[in-house]
Amino acid sequence: MAENATDQTAAFLRQSAELFGDEFYSAPHGESEIMTEVSTGSLAEFEQQIKACQKCALGDTRTNFVFGVGDPQADLVCVGEAPGADEDAQGVPFVGRAGKLLDKILAAIDLNREHNVYICNVLKCRPPNNRDPLPDEVEFCEPYLLRQLELIKPKLIVALGKVAAKTLLRLESNIPLKDMRNKLHDYHGTPLVATYHPAALLRGDRFKRPTWEDFKWIRSLLKAE
Ligand code: SF4
Repeated sequence: MAENATDQTAAFLRQSAELFGDEFYSAPHGESEIMTEVSTGSLAEFEQQIKACQKCALGDTRTNFVFGVGDPQADLVCVGEAPGADEDAQGVPFVGRAGKLLDKILAAIDLNREHNVYICNVLKCRPPNNRDPLPDEVEFCEPYLLRQLELIKPKLIVALGKVAAKTLLRLESNIPLKDMRNKLHDYHGTPLVATYHPAALLRGDRFKRPTWEDFKWIRSLLKAE
């Protein structure tokens, strides 16, 4: 069947993004709008079980617990370090400008929050002033991430940003993200790749091309059997 004009335009924009790397394909029809939590079944039950958690001090300072959002049977799970101010206010991960950019990047590889992607953070509550997670906070909260992954069973995890990557992989804090990229790491039996946090892309164009290279690789990894 012949492609319609919208399909052809979308394909052209995707191809341009691959060629030039400095602009991301914009999804048509509002695909990049922030989706609400669509978890069902045991993942939703798990959220109910832990949403009042007070295991660490962040339980006292949070506005909202931020569990995660997306397809409960996703092949790809994107993991950031912790909720920021917008996420804390709305109870949804990766909202605001960085979240919208993440949606565009995912759309460029034909993914979105409703289909085949799940998005969450290592910590489910915001650290004050967006500071990095503390070791004891990670110790208390990481089992929740592990349970989410156990329920979702993704093919691949993408760690978004240096802090998320070094936290998950237990790496030294002075290792630059560029040294974590282009490697297939292992996180408790699931392959993990590290790439730049979308907020870094908002701060400078120099991260756009390597991030696009990473997501093209991510797309090929997801398509591989
Ligand atoms: S950050 Fe995690 S461990 Fe700490 S209170 Fe929130 S949910 Fe519980």
